[in-house]
Amino acid sequence: MIPVKGFSGQKVAVLGLGRSGLTTARALRAGGAQPVCWDDNPDAREKVQAEGFDCTDLRRTGALEGIASLIVSPGIPHLYPTPNPIVAAALEAGVPVDNDIGLFFRSFAGPEWNNFDTLPRVIAVTGSNGKSTTAALIHHILTEAGRSAELAGNIGRGVLDIDPGTDGSVVVLELSSYQTELARSLTPDVAVFTNLSPDHLDRHGGMGGYFAAKRRLFAEGGPDRAVIGVDEAEGAFLAGQMAEGPADDRVIRVSIDRKLTGPGWQVFARKGFLSEYRKGRQAGSIDLRAIKGLPGTHNHQNACAAYAACRSLGLAPRVIEDALHSYPGLPHRSQIIAEAQGVTYVNDSKATNVDSAVKALGAFKRIRWICGGLEKEGGLAALNEATTDVLKAYVIGREAANFAMQLNVETQVCTTMAAAVEQAMADAEAGDTILLAPAAASFDQYDSFERRGEDFADSVLQRLAE
Ligand code: ADP
Repeated sequence: MIPVKGFSGQKVAVLGLGRSGLTTARALRAGGAQPVCWDDNPDAREKVQAEGFDCTDLRRTGALEGIASLIVSPGIPHLYPTPNPIVAAALEAGVPVDNDIGLFFRSFAGPEWNNFDTLPRVIAVTGSNGKSTTAALIHHILTEAGRSAELAGNIGRGVLDIDPGTDGSVVVLELSSYQTELARSLTPDVAVFTNLSPDHLDRHGGMGGYFAAKRRLFAEGGPDRAVIGVDEAEGAFLAGQMAEGPADDRVIRVSIDRKLTGPGWQVFARKGFLSEYRKGRQAGSIDLRAIKGLPGTHNHQNACAAYAACRSLGLAPRVIEDALHSYPGLPHRSQIIAEAQGVTYVNDSKATNVDSAVKALGAFKRIRWICGGLEKEGGLAALNEATTDVLKAYVIGREAANFAMQLNVETQVCTTMAAAVEQAMADAEAGDTILLAPAAASFDQYDSFERRGEDFADSVLQRLAE
């Protein structure tokens, strides 16, 4: 745990008591602050009360009096579509609004750091897609290389939950746009931007707001090194803004679209080969095609970003290459859950938006595609350009018929996962891939994309066992 600094003896309000909220309350208490907790959900309140925390209804008039700061969970809107009333009240009263990420950056360094040869470093990863994979991959590479590394943030572990830094240790953080937008302190040593495509636009007032939220990771603290995917206009813009000139190797540009040239530092993947160039000379090269845990060009982008981040810490190309081969993959991201009678079953439930589903469709051949769910803004048109290898779509979700109508391939409206799996398996022949890549959120039928992925895996494994 990282005890929160700067609030000793003061009251700090914690709004939202999920995983990160609970961790925040504990870390505040460990730093001598008095957390005042609230969540509209009584079950969440009960959990923190059981740990002896004070719960106060922050919606009441005057509840924010004497509060030094309001710490907000990422799921709670602070600006768009409309600010949560408690956040609005805090802003109106001039109470600083922050989140656990801001608290982490102000609290991480300690006096013991004076004795370290190599100061602990923080690598923060943001972007629309590939954040978790890239962050987990960086963590895996560092660990394989014998470095002490911790992984936290949007990836399942509250950032204040990690252990204090040690000599030469590295913290890898996955940060969502909600987190980067609100954090009052944002000072990673290495900042990584994977890519940008429309997502969460309701929470950011459109694409410009969404990009601005992610950009804060680079603009606020001035990282020593910025690893930036330059295949979209926004990434190219950001890289251009960060660099002092063409040879400035504070920026490492990453592409999966083209060979990058110039005197700076570049990592790109073409036709399955990763290349690193620095000062006009090739510094590393890796064949990514044989790496089972990272299928598809989208994963090659993640591999390039992780490679660049690790190179910026001084790891050797060979060490990184070995670790890429042993990367086990994350659940629900291009995860092979079974191979039977020549048919491969892939769970990519995390493809919750059109862009990530397009990438998943590009990574496999002869696809029987399970898709559908709660449609996101922006429409499905881009999907129809990626269906060349789709044999048939099996559409799930409450609005399955409407979703199916918008696709340009043979479709069957299945509505439930069980029906979709049953039909896809009945149709499949050796050489086919049955791929769950919904291109939609799961909330019409499930609590989370994880539950949806588990339902897919359970349905498949159950049928295979019959
Ligand atoms: P995030 O944490 O940003 O949501 P994940 O690594 O969890 O990213 O991947 C989310 C989804 O996006 C998965 O469906 C995955 O197949 C797809 N994906 C992974 N990396 C990329 C990428 N670089 N570009 C586009 N899609 C990607």
